[in-house]
Amino acid sequence: MPPLSRDSADQLLARLPVELRAALACAARLAAVRAGRLWLVGGMVRDVLCGMPPGRDVDLAVEGDAPALARAFAAATGGRLIATHAAFGTATVELALSAGPALLIDFAGSRVERYSQPAALPEVQPAPIEDDLLRRDFSVSAMAIELRAEGDQLRAGRMLDPFGGRADLATSRLRLLHATSLRDDPTRLLRGLRLAARLDLQPDPATEAQIQEALAAGYLGLLSAERVLAELCLCLEEPRPDAVLRLADAWGVTPQVLPGLSWNEALAARSTRLATAPDDGPRGGPLVWAGLLLYELDEAQCAAIAARYPLPAEASELLRHLPALRALAPRLDGTLANSTVDRLLRPFSVAAITVLHYAEPAAAAVTAHYLRAVRPARALLDGNDLQRLGLAPGPALGRMLEALRAATLDGDVSSREQAEAWVRQRLATPG
Ligand code: ATP
Repeated sequence: MPPLSRDSADQLLARLPVELRAALACAARLAAVRAGRLWLVGGMVRDVLCGMPPGRDVDLAVEGDAPALARAFAAATGGRLIATHAAFGTATVELALSAGPALLIDFAGSRVERYSQPAALPEVQPAPIEDDLLRRDFSVSAMAIELRAEGDQLRAGRMLDPFGGRADLATSRLRLLHATSLRDDPTRLLRGLRLAARLDLQPDPATEAQIQEALAAGYLGLLSAERVLAELCLCLEEPRPDAVLRLADAWGVTPQVLPGLSWNEALAARSTRLATAPDDGPRGGPLVWAGLLLYELDEAQCAAIAARYPLPAEASELLRHLPALRALAPRLDGTLANSTVDRLLRPFSVAAITVLHYAEPAAAAVTAHYLRAVRPARALLDGNDLQRLGLAPGPALGRMLEALRAATLDGDVSSREQAEAWVRQRLATPG
């Protein structure tokens, strides 16, 4: 494929949203006076080449002092400097847009990395962009567009594509850059999986061989549980995490990171239900995806995952609850009173019930109704009201609140006055 001309690179940049272009032009202007050449690198170059809408993460490589440039950029744009790692020569600025999520702009000094041993964190040294691209993982992620500013306008300088990333995108190829890429950093195996699932890329033969060698040698096992978990969480943020799992099975990755899990038709069906849910359906998200993918695991398998990875509290709770949720599903039919559904489902998080919603179509009407109308129902009276009505603080008051909630949910009381009368009557009727 012939190299991309400056005009064509300009046209690529013209596809970026206007506020992003203005921000990049500002960074380019500042870089020209304070640092050195500035490059758009990584995922955004790839996405813009594929015609995908750019995400909120912008990676900039600067040949010079990146933290200083980030500070100047934040001051010029009103952005917020949210992280600086002087030792790595990196800094991140969060820049609010007029609509939608803020941009996260990473400024990194262009550099080379050396791995002293497999899976260790690399040693870093400043280097020109051409060398910086050499340390990257896949050809499609090792392209760079030089950013320049003419007045307020963003202009492209050179486009660098030393490993044929554009041609690989055009032919759907996933290509590692070096023969030891996965040994140096086995997270690349999981990164490649995510990228391949997202863009429907096939590993080229050398990459395929390296993947199989890495799996056979157990390189993933050299990574800390935190690093693997971070990659798994990124998989859950993909548009279709089920597609990542499907590919992970095909590559033979799943047994090494999530033993007991495997892609199957039932999993595919519940994933499709979530992915194609109407806008007013219960909302998904990474935690719901995790629950849906792991839905069929038994108690021991869930416990093994919780023991292996430092999961956030809500994820451990969800895993712990999955077997009980599954057991509950057959009881959730449309004949149940609201108060019964509330008693059955209240111990579970909204995410857990959303998992149940998409996992169990027969219970979906009940779970949707519960999430929409039952769970958010507000109490007509609170503990203070009950004390005013003569109840002493203690378990009896708690039981009365519960009973009142049930009566409210079942439509027996629907106003404060009715609720007070209902309580008075119960107090007057011993037993
Ligand atoms: P995504 O769209 O998933 O964010 P991305 O390619 O932008 O994808 P980042 O994690 O933001 O991914 O990384 C930015 C760039 O840094 C990558 O495109 C790649 O060039 C490089 N990179 C990130 N992680 C690694 C790694 N482990 N090894 C080599 N290069 C990496």
